[in-house]
Amino acid sequence: MTDEKQLQEQADEEMINQGFQELLDSYLATKHRKKVEIITKAFNFAKQAHKGVKRRSGEPYIMHPIAVAKIVCTEIGLGSTSICSALLHDVVEDTDYTVEDIENLFGSKIAQIVDGLTKISGGIFGDRASAQAENFKKLLLTMSDDIRVILIKIADRLHNMRTLGSMLPNKQYKIAGETLYIYAPLANRLGLNKIKTELEDLSFRYEHPEEYAQIEAKLQETQAEREEVFREFTAPIRERLDKMGISYRLMARVKSPYSIWNKMQTKHITFEEIYDILAVRIIFTPKDPEEELNECFNIYVSVSKIYKPHPDRLRDWVSHPKSNGYQALHVTLMSNKGQWIEVQIRSERMNDVAEQGFAAHWKYKEGGGSEDEGELEKWLRTIKEILDDPQPDAMDFLDTIKLNLFASEIFVFTPKGEIKTMPQNCTALDFAFSIHTFLGSHCIGAKVNHKLVPLSHKLQSGDQVEILTSKSQHVQPSWINFATTAKAKAKIMAILKREQRGMQQSGEEILRDFFNKEGLEFTPDNIQKLCTLHNLRTQEELFSAIGFKTIIPGDNDKNELKDKPATSNWKKYISFAFGGNKSNKDKSEEKEPIQKIDSKKILKLTPEAIQKNYVIAECCKPIPGDDVLGYIDDNNRIIIHKRQCPLATKLKSSYGNRLLAVQWETGKSLYFPVNLYIKGIDHIGLLNKVTEIISQQLNVNIHKLTIETNDGIFEGRIQLFVHDVDDVRTISTNLRKISEVKTVTRIEKFEDLPN
Ligand code: MN
Repeated sequence: MTDEKQLQEQADEEMINQGFQELLDSYLATKHRKKVEIITKAFNFAKQAHKGVKRRSGEPYIMHPIAVAKIVCTEIGLGSTSICSALLHDVVEDTDYTVEDIENLFGSKIAQIVDGLTKISGGIFGDRASAQAENFKKLLLTMSDDIRVILIKIADRLHNMRTLGSMLPNKQYKIAGETLYIYAPLANRLGLNKIKTELEDLSFRYEHPEEYAQIEAKLQETQAEREEVFREFTAPIRERLDKMGISYRLMARVKSPYSIWNKMQTKHITFEEIYDILAVRIIFTPKDPEEELNECFNIYVSVSKIYKPHPDRLRDWVSHPKSNGYQALHVTLMSNKGQWIEVQIRSERMNDVAEQGFAAHWKYKEGGGSEDEGELEKWLRTIKEILDDPQPDAMDFLDTIKLNLFASEIFVFTPKGEIKTMPQNCTALDFAFSIHTFLGSHCIGAKVNHKLVPLSHKLQSGDQVEILTSKSQHVQPSWINFATTAKAKAKIMAILKREQRGMQQSGEEILRDFFNKEGLEFTPDNIQKLCTLHNLRTQEELFSAIGFKTIIPGDNDKNELKDKPATSNWKKYISFAFGGNKSNKDKSEEKEPIQKIDSKKILKLTPEAIQKNYVIAECCKPIPGDDVLGYIDDNNRIIIHKRQCPLATKLKSSYGNRLLAVQWETGKSLYFPVNLYIKGIDHIGLLNKVTEIISQQLNVNIHKLTIETNDGIFEGRIQLFVHDVDDVRTISTNLRKISEVKTVTRIEKFEDLPN
């Protein structure tokens, strides 16, 4: 062995031992029982199992399990079983050891968790469309068996995100996208607020590095100013709380870069226009644990005497915790400088729960049993129910679950006055299904606060809801449009599927009769033609549409099969927009196949390349300068999406292995369409000023322009051909200089409204 190698090994060994010592130290600092022996055993076992293997960063592999175990211990608050499982989490996946080996050495519980973690590990994407969705389904299944599996998985993901820098760019997008799509909402649902925020920020940093840096810089610039506001605003609060003899600490909560960016995007505002970057947290230790809630309200009352509270912005999650366990009292107060500032009041216990989620509950188990754990169990049960119903499309399933992960909550009452937690924007129909499948499938309407409403009626917090049923009622296909909860959707789909099979059969018979009558042949080819005619994908869809009488075969169908006329133009357009039909395939065959893509390289989007094999996605219409990624579609074309395009987000989590890192290199040679939305105060000559500014910008052409004025408000939409986002930026900045113009925003479609 060379000296150099020996030195390296020695350094590695030191690094490993130091890492493990840090883990042990932080474990010993917790309130858990001190099971150092089994943790040391797990460490030694994992260390020799991964021996000689390095991470991409060059570190010995074992540093990863150690880091994950440390997150599990210090940031999620779990004990020795989870720490051991975290240390062992990649052993079965990456080495020759089996689950049985783990069971023999560490017992059945740890083996079971490691098994769960191995099953949901991400290394098995085939070319199958929904591999990742399937993985996620598995993940939820294991989760409902032992919640620790998912908690450790989240820790694993967090460490991978923290070390994402050493990965290849196309892998970075895949992992970052998946993190934003699945893991951050999951962490949120489990109440791991701090981790959720970090996951979002890290994803954001990799997907939009420039914007991230800009926001960070602005946060730094304004730091001193915020500190001053905080000092001034909290001084009278301190005085009052001291007088009341409360033991407390005050914290300044600064909005995370990701949430700032998110707000800028959705509300179309600038950094400077966000008023709630700073919030104040009052965290107190109750004198008597029994009086915790009362003390919250006492503090609320006394701060409201100092500053005027906003009448509509009191949020009481103290009496009714969110179902992820979050508890606090939020109040928005007017500072002496006329600024609204949010104040969050919570006890130390509530604060732990807010940062660490349910794991923190276990710490406080003795002190006052909480219903919140019941809420989590209820949620897990719902997931299990959905999983029990065979869902044909894993992607649909993923979408509905995700909807439920994001939803905020409202409270609704039954006629008997029982309180139920429901996701925001849920309908009377969702409520019916949440109580019982029978109630849901037979409901004809509802009474909300004693008034008759349709099933699609959206419920508000505080509503009292009575469901009206009829025995003769059965599930309607249209219900899927206004069911919003995963449970209701899954139940409706399952019932419809059952009925659909019957309808398909009768539809097939009707079509057969029709073909016979018209003297047509009942061939797959002819059936396919009718599918195309009616814009349906499969013959099953066609049969059931006929069975349900939404399609009645007639002259149109007959002509389609007999005369074979050329397809009309609009249809070609539609199918092109959705991709993947025959005419595209013909084209792609002429083109050189581009299978030999080296996914490790960043592809350059040169003008030649764009005109050849690349397609700019219709849905988000990126232009040079936007953060983009490439996706290889079924026809071997590379579709360029904006990284935050909703469709791209879906692709990232389901077709991760088809993603490519791409980079604009068009220079100023190509033109791209871009749409701007302008709003302001109407004034004579305003239109002139607008067009003048645009025509001053060299090489930019107005393609379309519409103006509307209403009650003195001017609203304009402009389509321009530009080279890149720099052009857009210059034009927007110049337009904003017109004093009557209040907003200028880029919109994706010409007709779009900025939200
Ligand atoms: Mn791992």
